[in-house]
Amino acid sequence: MNFQPVLDEIDAELRPLLGRAGTVASYIPALARVPALHFGIALRTCDGQEACAGDAAVPFSIQSISKLFTLTLAMRRLGDALWQRIGREPSGNPFNSLVQLENEQGKPRNPFINAGAIAVADRLLSQGDAQRDILALMSDLAGEPIAFDEEVAASEAATGYRNYALANFMKSFGKIDNDVAPTLDVYFHQCALRMTCLQLARAAAFLSRDGAHPLGGRPAVCTERQTRRLNALMLTCGTYDAAGDVAFSIGLPCKSGVGGGIVAVVPDHLTLAVWSPALDTTGNSLLGLKALELFVAKTGLSVF
Ligand code: GLN
Repeated sequence: MNFQPVLDEIDAELRPLLGRAGTVASYIPALARVPALHFGIALRTCDGQEACAGDAAVPFSIQSISKLFTLTLAMRRLGDALWQRIGREPSGNPFNSLVQLENEQGKPRNPFINAGAIAVADRLLSQGDAQRDILALMSDLAGEPIAFDEEVAASEAATGYRNYALANFMKSFGKIDNDVAPTLDVYFHQCALRMTCLQLARAAAFLSRDGAHPLGGRPAVCTERQTRRLNALMLTCGTYDAAGDVAFSIGLPCKSGVGGGIVAVVPDHLTLAVWSPALDTTGNSLLGLKALELFVAKTGLSVF
């Protein structure tokens, strides 16, 4: 199937809606400055076909999409031991909620809420130079150098009061081994990874290929079983407390970020990345979700 016309149609349908609804994340100035009037979409199929439309080559802050990649690293390194510290249930709460964490003795519900990702960052830090390992993984998967946006990372650190609270809470329950400051330094940097839709579609392509490396001819990124689990977690927890609605209306494993990006997987077919900075009230990209809904409607590709 030639996907280029499908992406062009989606771009043409959604472009007129740019700026009509939603709000750009404003919790740090570096994100608040991003103009809302962007829409990009890219995909990579299992057999290496690529297609993109709109602003697919404009880099943006991937934010919580990074949780997918740090989880991949941690699953690869720690295997099942990882799940002693982190659950696998949807939270039904906003991504930065503190309440549940207190009720559940500092064990985060899942790796895709902030608390869970901070716990993953702690595990990676115990294994070595986590920031270097994250950059190495992202650059290897995307096939070109990927970098942190240091300005975004610094603003995250300057204003991340809730994330400090979450990390301190977990530390008080003995659920974080490293000091809070270096653990959050990893977390703030991973949120500040700058990538384009096309780079993201490539980097996450292993999720539609049973863990095989996106670019072929290189060692697998993770096992088939780990890939199934990553996709299951994306479907149930990847879009925070909108995960049920997203499964209902799109039916694909997705991981979103407050920078306006969303990665979606059609297992055994392709990986998609969409970006549009204006968010809905759950912190997911409004037009990004619309684009995925249109893609599924136009192609009939869904896991259901
Ligand atoms: N940097 C953001 C935070 O920690 C990431 C959240 C997100 O993308 N949902 O609050």
